[in-house]
Amino acid sequence: MGIGLYHHPLFARHAVPQGHPERPERVRVIEAALKKAALPEASWHEAGAAKEKDILRVHDPAHLESLKAADQQARKGGGLVSLDADTWMGPESLAAALHAAGAGIMSTRAVLAGTHLRAFCIVRPPGHHAEQARAMGFCLFNNVAIAAAWALEEGGLSRVAIVDFDVHHGNGTQAIFWNEPRVLYCSSHQSPAYPGTGEETERGAHDNIVNCPLPPGSGGEAFRAAYRERILPALAAFAPELLLISAGFDAHAADPLASLRLHEDDYAWVTLELVKISEKAGHGRIVSMLEGGYDLEALAASSAVHVRVLTER
Ligand SMILES: [Zn+2]
Repeated sequence: MGIGLYHHPLFARHAVPQGHPERPERVRVIEAALKKAALPEASWHEAGAAKEKDILRVHDPAHLESLKAADQQARKGGGLVSLDADTWMGPESLAAALHAAGAGIMSTRAVLAGTHLRAFCIVRPPGHHAEQARAMGFCLFNNVAIAAAWALEEGGLSRVAIVDFDVHHGNGTQAIFWNEPRVLYCSSHQSPAYPGTGEETERGAHDNIVNCPLPPGSGGEAFRAAYRERILPALAAFAPELLLISAGFDAHAADPLASLRLHEDDYAWVTLELVKISEKAGHGRIVSMLEGGYDLEALAASSAVHVRVLTER
């Protein structure tokens, strides 16, 4: 059944200030690497925009309104609007963010329909820091949370797992699903680091959150141990009907924003372990969405390895 690769030209048109790490080149180098890899059984799809009701399953109406107001301001001024020190909107950012969220829904729908077994969404802006009522950390809407909420309400599922191996904790995803027993959220991340959440003691209202903080300097051994000892057993016990991945590649040793020391083989390893979990659950369905990753070469190589394992297995 192969893998669906979801993209849109708007993802490279979400503007940020000069020198900002979350830049348009990120999606360009990933697309180039995936095309060069000439993966068999990979199909490319242009993402559609999420509808307002899809956004409002996880975000407050006031959040959507505030982004619309910033969008108006950016269009009128023809420039950039700052939401916080890290998070910016240009004239096409709201459209890009709606399509990033839409990519998650469209690919989840296709995977549940059996059009393809797995999907990778090459999106920006990223999503996992966005909370119900707040854009932050380069994120406007929480793309993976919107996909999970869609799968529960429209896809007819009752157990969805989200695994987040971005080097930063997905504070937004955790907050959105803190009180949702139908979602298991598992994160490995550097600590201390931005955004400051993700202690092991943060477990959710239904023991549905598994946080694995890793000290700066941790390498592949510590990363794999966190998965072997905590995340993979929790996933196996939960037996998700769909596995979503917040795929950030900023835990790579070459990344300028953090100091974990992963390499491409660690991303291949964790991807294969997640594939095995999804197969053990009886289906093999995975939808992976791009989050961070700021060294262009490491980002392209790591994404290609991740998608290759998702494709070949
Ligand atoms: Zn990150």
